[in-house]
Amino acid sequence: MRLLLVEDDPLLASGLVMALRRAHYTVEHVDNGASAVAALRDNDFDAAVLDLGLPDLDGTRVLEQVRAGGRDVPILILSARDAMRDRVRGLDLGADDYLVKPFELDELLARLRVLMRRHGGRPVNRIERGDLVLDVESLRASWQGKPVELQRLEFMLLKQLAEHPLRVFNRAQLEESLYGWGEGAESNTIDVHVHHLRKKLAPAAIKTVRGVGYRLGDVGV
Ligand code: CA
Repeated sequence: MRLLLVEDDPLLASGLVMALRRAHYTVEHVDNGASAVAALRDNDFDAAVLDLGLPDLDGTRVLEQVRAGGRDVPILILSARDAMRDRVRGLDLGADDYLVKPFELDELLARLRVLMRRHGGRPVNRIERGDLVLDVESLRASWQGKPVELQRLEFMLLKQLAEHPLRVFNRAQLEESLYGWGEGAESNTIDVHVHHLRKKLAPAAIKTVRGVGYRLGDVGV
């Protein structure tokens, strides 16, 4: 699940990025309103966590612009402003939830789970495609009923392919899906991961689409 964090406080942001990654989200972070609007316009996020007090645009303006652009990504406002009128205004402008700082991390995570359930409705804990089973909570994989040891980036790459079994991804798109997992984006990274995955699963499990990239291959569906 891809999450955008919009937060200008560097300490809070870095703590949240770490905590959200530990909770298995792929996180991108921006620290100002203009970048947030652009990121939400140009990318598919599963949800956004939005601070209101930002250096350039107020978070409520970000919300307005995103909704005016027709984006219905779930947005949770995370703000120190706890006056009733601020909450009501945020929700009126199209926020899905509002959490007041300071907050408990567990509460934020719980609310994000609710948001995603309400919106996507797609069960995220387990992906089954033929012989391949991915447990997204524990990052465990199995192939033909046997556990397979995967590096985290291998797991994330395979998850991306398995979530969209008919879609062909180019390398840039796959690199983007790993963005946030702390890997330097070397041009051959994806190919190396694919090579390892084929050895660990089966050569045909990931299909090369010549001149384009990769998609999930023959997994015995
Ligand atoms: Ca702030």
